[in-house]
Amino acid sequence: MRLLCDHMLGSLARWLRFIGYDTAYPEPGPDRSLIERARAEDRILLTRDKELASRVPGSVQIRSDDLEEQIREVAERLPLRLVDPLSRCSLCNEVLVSAVPEDVKGLVPEGVRVRHHTFWRCPSCGRVYWQGSHWDKMIARLHDLDLPRAP
Ligand SMILES: [Zn+2]
Repeated sequence: MRLLCDHMLGSLARWLRFIGYDTAYPEPGPDRSLIERARAEDRILLTRDKELASRVPGSVQIRSDDLEEQIREVAERLPLRLVDPLSRCSLCNEVLVSAVPEDVKGLVPEGVRVRHHTFWRCPSCGRVYWQGSHWDKMIARLHDLDLPRAP
């Protein structure tokens, strides 16, 4: 399941990437380019725009401004699953590659580097991820949402 968020849904796009979905989040542009991209890349369109949602079959209209509500709205319509957290860059949707502490010397605080064995790095923007307190918080929120896990 590949997704496409309109420009009003930046937090939702980052969240969906975090749980493992290939989620496009294009620059602001005409509705026509969103529709074309959804079709060309076989993505489900998530949009705040009621009129746009009504024009695109299979799209999901998001009504709330609140991220957790938005996730619930998506989960009501789509079979949302915890696919593979920390598999994609939240910022650019790129698939992350794993790295060892040696690889991230100078890229993360030294205290973090010595306490973790595994890191993930975005080949596009270079951002480094690890299972720190932010990750724990995200996972806890996911458990609160009670999404089924991918088999
Ligand atoms: Zn990135």
